[in-house]
Amino acid sequence: MAYDPDNIFAKILRGDIPCDKVYENDHVLAFRDINPQAPTHILVIPKGAYSDADDFTARASQEEIAAFFKAVGDVARQEGIADQGYRIISNCGHNGGQEVPHLHIHILGGRRLGRMVAAA
Ligand code: AMP
Repeated sequence: MAYDPDNIFAKILRGDIPCDKVYENDHVLAFRDINPQAPTHILVIPKGAYSDADDFTARASQEEIAAFFKAVGDVARQEGIADQGYRIISNCGHNGGQEVPHLHIHILGGRRLGRMVAAA
């Protein structure tokens, strides 16, 4: 999918709209989801213009990929949910149910979560 520079996470990265930031480094930004589905619900996004996990894994550098996945673990530990466990999800494309077309990993924790995929 061609990257849409007007998507809402691109606007957050540009500072055009605010976010509740929890973590940032040269490659990654993480902020709280505006509609949390668990006591802790954070979105981790790469700073590069990647529309989804397919685009990222095809085009991103080894450094970007390593930094992104490392940040997911760092954020979970920073937020105190790693010991009890948590779930990471990345919806990819139409069948994945992706709504915002900038790659993001959801980190969900702070309570026991239900089944991985709800019946349709
Ligand atoms: P997805 O369906 O995987 O694309 O998830 C998009 C997520 O972005 C949803 O969980 C939304 O609640 C979240 N979201 C949308 N707009 C914002 C925003 N401005 N700040 C934080 N989270 C947002």
